[in-house]
Amino acid sequence: MSTSVFETQIRHDPYERHDDMQPVLDEDAVARITRYGETRTVEAGEILFEIGDSQTEFILVLSGLVAIEVDGCDGTTTVVEHGRGGFTGEIDMFSNRKAVVRSVCREAGEIAYLGRDAFRRMLARNADLSETIIRAFILRRTGLIYTEQGDTILLGEDDLGETLALRSFLSRNGHPHKFVDPSDEPDFARRVMETFSLSKEDLPAVIWRMTEVLKRPSPHDVADLLGLSQPSCPRDVYDVAVIGVGPAGLAAAVNAAAEGMTVIAIEGTAPGGQAGTSSKIENYPAFPTGISGQALSSRMLLQAQKFGTDIITPRTVKAIACGARPYTLTLDDDQELHAHAIVIASGARWRKLGLDGEDRLENAGLYYGATPVEAALCEREEVVIVGGGNSSGQAAIFLSRKAHRVHILVRTENLAVSMSDYLIQRIEEAENIELHFCTEVIAVEGERHLEAMTWRDNKTGEEVEKDIRHLFVMIGAVPNTEWLDDCVLRDPKGFVLTGSDLPAAALVAREWDVPRMPYTGETSRPGLFAVGDVRSGSVKRVASAVGEGAISAQFLYKVVHEDD
Ligand SMILES: Cc1cc2nc3c(=O)[nH]c(=O)nc-3n(C[C@H](O)[C@H](O)[C@H](O)COP(=O)(O)OP(=O)(O)OC[C@H]3O[C@@H](n4cnc5c(N)ncnc54)[C@H](O)[C@@H]3O)c2cc1C
Repeated sequence: MSTSVFETQIRHDPYERHDDMQPVLDEDAVARITRYGETRTVEAGEILFEIGDSQTEFILVLSGLVAIEVDGCDGTTTVVEHGRGGFTGEIDMFSNRKAVVRSVCREAGEIAYLGRDAFRRMLARNADLSETIIRAFILRRTGLIYTEQGDTILLGEDDLGETLALRSFLSRNGHPHKFVDPSDEPDFARRVMETFSLSKEDLPAVIWRMTEVLKRPSPHDVADLLGLSQPSCPRDVYDVAVIGVGPAGLAAAVNAAAEGMTVIAIEGTAPGGQAGTSSKIENYPAFPTGISGQALSSRMLLQAQKFGTDIITPRTVKAIACGARPYTLTLDDDQELHAHAIVIASGARWRKLGLDGEDRLENAGLYYGATPVEAALCEREEVVIVGGGNSSGQAAIFLSRKAHRVHILVRTENLAVSMSDYLIQRIEEAENIELHFCTEVIAVEGERHLEAMTWRDNKTGEEVEKDIRHLFVMIGAVPNTEWLDDCVLRDPKGFVLTGSDLPAAALVAREWDVPRMPYTGETSRPGLFAVGDVRSGSVKRVASAVGEGAISAQFLYKVVHEDD
């Protein structure tokens, strides 16, 4: 059983739900699925797909026995054996990711196999089968994460910024991996380092399939290796390109793809956006006990992929050519994508403190989000959170369960204006959370990791220096709109103006060239929409971001078919 940080995310062993994870389909279901594919005989020992293969088929066993295997440091393990009515696949079936398991025929027999398009068609037309299969896929992936099985080992020191960035990336992308800190598992680490001739300077390292090694890679390098950064189904022109895979972008993608449009979504860091860094969202409808941002976004991600959205990550859109349609996006690898309509869902990010050393210490003691990955690093330590909004309140309550003491530093005299009442009450009740009003951090220290900081009480002028190694910065939002240049009208703070907020005179001046007024959410360029936190006047909530993204789909449809 896992002892990793994922225990904080996956509370129950997915393998306890064996019947849901490995369902055996009845004769009616077998017949219905077989109609969408082709059949063939298979021989014992035949590999049906190998670890690392892309675009694997959906395989339904008609007779014989088909096994699923994973390779680990100690050899190969059989995860499950499927007889008639059993099927292969997990959530990679919806993306370009490389398979993390192998499928091998154990006993000769017959299989039905469906390519990706046929598989999606089958799911779309058979809601009951879709539910059974997708539930199984989710549980299978969750199981691999829970048991740290799969194709990837991350070897690195726990408190190194580079290691944290990679852990965060793998975790937020739901990629099963084994994380090894050499000081926790010295024998295992030595064995791996000897096998791959790695020195301490090469860490963090990612070992894939026990064959390929990336020394001190960036998340981009890892994404390229795992097949996350390229479209699975490249097109000359997409109907819709969504920039940013936070709640707003995901909702736009789910709804646009469900309407039959071809959709590509591009994400600069990891799916989920700001919401993906929230430990618990309690005001999102339908989850009375709350839901973690990662759980919510991974469901939406899968839903978007189920409807055919192509998602690439981490790829940043660095420029948009908006003078001609279809619009052209240039990504950070200089790849160009073209789309008839664009959804700007690039959200916002936390403002920085503006202190010397802040960039150097990012992910090495200084964080802009409090997920289970960061929380695990704060076990029994003292932490500081800067900011008085709901995000800081949530983070404080979440971290207080692991940390020895949590200090919240706010510049104002109380929290009433900036934080919801339920959070204030919980903070007041928590014995290990301490509030410091009218206080700000004025210095951070440390070379490889944050070692100390100084804060000042602005009322008394008193300065306090503390050896605290974890600082969470959650102050004010800055829109992610630099890449837009002057393509669309923005408000003085840089947020994008849309719909009825656009001054008519400005539209005339900017040569608005279609015989209608902008739709809800449409910017000063026809066919370019802005939704969620990036939009001027948005309310900065998950539910509203999702609502705006969903609403955009109907207007996207009109724009895409405007010339029909
Ligand atoms: C810690 C925390 C806790 C929160 N808790 C709650 C809560 O409990 N309830 C609530 O309602 N709201 C909460 N919020 C606010 C909520 O998360 C946001 O309102 C919501 O995420 C906005 O969604 P979005 O999709 O508009 O933008 P974002 O979530 O900001 O997503 C934008 C995405 O776009 C990507 N991106 C940016 N630029 C580019 C580019 N050029 N190319 C490609 N990708 C790009 C970013 O990497 C990001 O993933 C919280 C926020 C934080 C930070």
